[in-house]
Amino acid sequence: NPVIGVLALQGGVAEHLAALERCGADARPVRRAEELAAVHGIVLPGGESTTMTRLLDTFELYEPLRERLAAGLPAYGSCAGMIMLAREVADQDPELPAVRPLGALDMVVRRNAFGRQVDSFETHLDFAGVPGGPVHAVFIRAPWVEEVGPEIDVLATVPDMHGDDPDSTGRSSGVGRIVAVQQGSVLATSFHPELVGGDERVHRYFVQIVRARLDSAAHA
Ligand code: GLN
Repeated sequence: NPVIGVLALQGGVAEHLAALERCGADARPVRRAEELAAVHGIVLPGGESTTMTRLLDTFELYEPLRERLAAGLPAYGSCAGMIMLAREVADQDPELPAVRPLGALDMVVRRNAFGRQVDSFETHLDFAGVPGGPVHAVFIRAPWVEEVGPEIDVLATVPDMHGDDPDSTGRSSGVGRIVAVQQGSVLATSFHPELVGGDERVHRYFVQIVRARLDSAAHA
């Protein structure tokens, strides 16, 4: 079975570990470089991306993780984890602690993007590649993906009725906001599938990505 680590510095670590185990992975918390070296894939949970940046430095994991991602380690980031996997974070305030994203996904993310009118919301959305109907998605001070490079596949969007509302009408702008993406073996969602009990389809999808990667390495 694939060994899948969950970055265990903060956030919803236990929920991701449990979901991965239910999908047949050997799931382990990762706090040290030696633990990182032993995994076939890694999950970056939600939390707070400036704090996660700081903790990655404190635990001397930032460079080892960046290097493994650059070498093709399969990864899945939810919410703050999505932010960490991006190439760039939009409009960072130089007065505030910075997020230093790891650059595994060729995209620009906007933090707390839905937050002006509602902090958090839940919806059901179609998720490309995940069978069995719409996925229940929980958004908590979530980012959206603002720009994508040519290698990125968009897996899910939501209508922007929760987002920026420049003319204050309260109506949807009609724009679909990107909330799930994949680039090769790297997956990210703005929302938290680990918080929805009894539906592991997104985790199963990631475990399949890791397995496919292991198989192709074995046959290379
Ligand atoms: N708002 C957080 C950030 O910017 C992410 C929130 C979450 O992970 N639920 O990092």
